[in-house]
Amino acid sequence: MALKFNYYIPTKIVFGKGSLDKLAKLKLPGKKALIVTGGTSTTKLGYVDRVVNLLKEKEIESVVYNKILPNPNNVQVDEGADIIKSEGCDFIIGIGGGSSIDSAKAMSMVAANEGKCWDFISGAARMKNKPMPVVAITTTAGTGTEADQYFVITNEELNQKIGWGGEKFFPTLSIVDPDLMMTVPPKYTAYQGFDALYHSIEGYIARVANPMSDMYALKAIELIGKYLPTAVKNGADEEARAAVAMANTLSGMVEATSSTTSEHAMEHSLSAFHPELTHGAGLIMISCAYHKHFAPHIADRYVDMARALGYRDTTDPMDFVKALEQLIVDCDVADLKMSDFGIQKSDIEELADNALATGGLMFKVDRVQLTKEDVMKIYEESYK
Ligand SMILES: [Zn+2]
Repeated sequence: MALKFNYYIPTKIVFGKGSLDKLAKLKLPGKKALIVTGGTSTTKLGYVDRVVNLLKEKEIESVVYNKILPNPNNVQVDEGADIIKSEGCDFIIGIGGGSSIDSAKAMSMVAANEGKCWDFISGAARMKNKPMPVVAITTTAGTGTEADQYFVITNEELNQKIGWGGEKFFPTLSIVDPDLMMTVPPKYTAYQGFDALYHSIEGYIARVANPMSDMYALKAIELIGKYLPTAVKNGADEEARAAVAMANTLSGMVEATSSTTSEHAMEHSLSAFHPELTHGAGLIMISCAYHKHFAPHIADRYVDMARALGYRDTTDPMDFVKALEQLIVDCDVADLKMSDFGIQKSDIEELADNALATGGLMFKVDRVQLTKEDVMKIYEESYK
């Protein structure tokens, strides 16, 4: 590979056990914050109150918006943006999983401009003003959005789930405190950990991979292979939680410097039609068939990843698929079935059409182009 890369990750990342308490000492980008969150665990566990109190120490006012759903949608983004305008907030804090932070990013665009969220995402309106500053406080190890410039928003009316973003959407500050992740239930620890894993895998096989993203990706894949099963089975294991959190932030950096591939487009189609389906679970369901398809075409890259997952001396790209299947078993998520989420075999053509129509760019970065028939075949092989 030619030694060429572009690098731009302007986010200040404060990583490590106990780092939330540093909020009161860090420079923040405004005087009044809208705190955006999902309203269940972050409130119950007292994280939102902690943030409000830490802000008070700095004489920063805050308003809480806590209605974000697991697959965040444009209606909530518009609602939050209206509150930002009416309350006169000048920055946004997303606290929670990817859904809260992605919503904060989308609100940062809508609140600083004239128009609704979907006007910008659909291309009907252009962003004239730069988005408001966003602070990300992540309580899960899944999307990596704390270290990248993207957000994903669903329009339930149109059954579209679209990733959007650009250089102006990097958070100003991200706090990654593994202590906040200790109580994530096993199932979600697995879904989120696999999402991070796929960000790195896809970033490694994408056409736009480069020496910088490769470095982050292989390290993240190795950490997840080694520590995710422990984080799932024993959530109180601090070492495993910190390692998976680290892998997730590295995977965000992979997204910032490389790209996700059509695997993500294919998942977005599943959860666009079934918003109750968690993103990571959707990815797990299609991933083995997906990577079986690609492994023989990009053998050297899959051999590298198989080695990172423990097949130290292998030269067989299919060992990667074996390692992935084993990791899925070890993390107790091998029984995920599309049919349990109401997906029918007869939906497959529509799912493929939707993935191809809305995920265009992610298909373009594949090293081997998928036809509609290939996409349908991957869904079919994944179907249980
Ligand atoms: Zn993802």
